[in-house]
Amino acid sequence: MPIEPSQYPNLIAELRATFDSGLTRDLAWRDQQLARLNALLEDHEDQIAEALGHDLAKPKQEVFLGELALLYSEIKYARKNLKKWAKPRRVRTPLAGQPGKSFVVPEPAGVVLIIGAWNYPIQLILGPLIPAIAAGNCAVLKPSEVATKTAHLVASLVPAYLDERAYRVVEGAVEETTALLAEKFDHIFYTGGSAVGRVVMRAASEHLTPVTLELGGKSPCVVDDSADLKSAARRIIWGKCLNAGQTCIAPDYVLVTPKQKAPLIEALKSELDRMYGTDRLASADYCKIINERHFDRLLAYVDEGQVAIGGASDRSILKIEPTVLTDLKSDAECMREEIFGPILPMIEVANIEAAVDHIKAGDKPLAAYLFTGNASHEKHFLDHISTGNVCINDVLMFMLVPDLPFGGVGNSGMGQYHGQAGFDQLSHLKAVMHRGRFPEIWIRFAPYSDFKTRLLKIFG
Ligand code: NAD
Repeated sequence: MPIEPSQYPNLIAELRATFDSGLTRDLAWRDQQLARLNALLEDHEDQIAEALGHDLAKPKQEVFLGELALLYSEIKYARKNLKKWAKPRRVRTPLAGQPGKSFVVPEPAGVVLIIGAWNYPIQLILGPLIPAIAAGNCAVLKPSEVATKTAHLVASLVPAYLDERAYRVVEGAVEETTALLAEKFDHIFYTGGSAVGRVVMRAASEHLTPVTLELGGKSPCVVDDSADLKSAARRIIWGKCLNAGQTCIAPDYVLVTPKQKAPLIEALKSELDRMYGTDRLASADYCKIINERHFDRLLAYVDEGQVAIGGASDRSILKIEPTVLTDLKSDAECMREEIFGPILPMIEVANIEAAVDHIKAGDKPLAAYLFTGNASHEKHFLDHISTGNVCINDVLMFMLVPDLPFGGVGNSGMGQYHGQAGFDQLSHLKAVMHRGRFPEIWIRFAPYSDFKTRLLKIFG
C-alpha cells in the first residue's frame, strides 16, 4: 500500500520513536541491517537488472559496474570500519585545560530523509542509506519517480529486508516530496539537479535542518599537447557513454589544444567503433535516454554545432548516438547547461592556462578531468580549479576509492559521502570534554588581578 501524504506526520513520528528508543544505536543491530541490505542486493540482482533494463535499457555489466559494485564495496567497508568510526575520537587537550581529556563523539543525526535521482536509481537511493544505517539513523527513502520500475522495486524490497521500525520508503513525485519536505527531519540528503536543490534547501531552512546536496554541473575534460590520445579517447568514450552520458560525473565537454583536435576526433571515432560497432543505436551495450522530454532536450543540442562524430537518433527507442560536436554556436545552450546525455562538445583552447581560465569562468564543477603527460600542467590544474573531484588521465575512477569523499562544491553541491565521509556526514560530531577535579588552577576565577592576567597570557 503506497503511503499517502496525510500519513507522513505519523510515519515520521514512528521513526522518531524508534530512534528515541535507542534501537539504532546498537552497533550489532546496525551491522545486521547492513548485512540485510547486502542480502537484498545479492538476492535480487536479476530483478534489479530487469527494472534498470526497463527504465534505462541498462546492460547487465553496467548494472553491476555503475550500481551494485559500489554498493557492495561501501557496505563491506562500512561493516569493516563501523566500530572504529563510531568510537569517541580522542583529541589533544591543551595545558590550560588540564587536568582533562577531550573527545569527538559521533552521535547519530536522527531521522534522515534521502531523496534519490533517476540516473543511477538503485545506487543513489541505497548508497546514502549505507552511511545512514552505519551512523545509527532512521531514514525515509524517496526514490525518483522518473525511473518508475526501479522505484517500485525499491519500495517492495526494502520492507522485506530492513527493519520497518527504522527504514521506510515513500514513493511519489513533486507533490509527495513537497509534503515530505514540510516535515521536520534531522538531515536531508538530496541527489538531483540544482534547481530542486534550492527547493530542498529552502524547505530545510524552515526547520534549520542540515542538508547534503549532491548536485551536478558541467564537468570539463582537458586534453593537452602531451596527452596520450589513444588512452584518453578510450577512457573518455567509456565515461561519456556509460548510461548514455546520463551520469553526474560524465565528462560534459572537452577542451583540446589545436594540435590534438583532429587526431583526438579520429581516436574517439575508432574507440566508438571498437566498443559499440558502427550501428551504435543498435548496440545492446548502449543505454537509452530516460524519457521523451530528455530525448528532445538532448536532440536540440545536436544542431548547436558541427557534427564531427555521430548525430543519429531514434525516438521510438529513445536512443541518441554518441555525438561529438565542434565549432559550437556562440550562444549554444549545451555550453551553458549540464548536458547529461551522449553529446560531447569539443572546444579548442591554446594551452593549459587557457583551459583553466575557461573552466574558472563557469560554475565550480562536480568533477574535472585532465589528460596530460606534463607534471607542471597537472600542478597548474590542481592549484587553480576548485571542483568536487579530480581525476588525472582518467574519468570517473575516483569512485572506486572508498577513502575519497564524494560530493560537489559551490553550484555542484555541498557535503560529501562514501566511506568515513558518509558516516561523519550523517552523524553529529559532538565535542566532549571530561575535566579532572584536581589540581584546581585558580587563575580563571575572580577576584581577577594583573598577575592572573599575565599568567593567563602565558598558559591560556
Ligand atoms: P529527478 O528528476 O529524479 O529529481 C531528483 C529528486 O527530486 C526526485 O526524487 C524528485 O522526485 C525530486 N523532485 C523533483 N522536483 C521536485 C520539486 N519541485 N520539489 C521537490 N522534489 C522534487 O532528477 P534530476 O534533477 O533530473 O537529476 C539530474 C541531476 O542530478 C543532474 O544535474 C545530475 O548531475 C544530478 N546528479 C547528481 C549526482 C551526484 O551524486 N552529485 C548523482 C546523480 C545525478
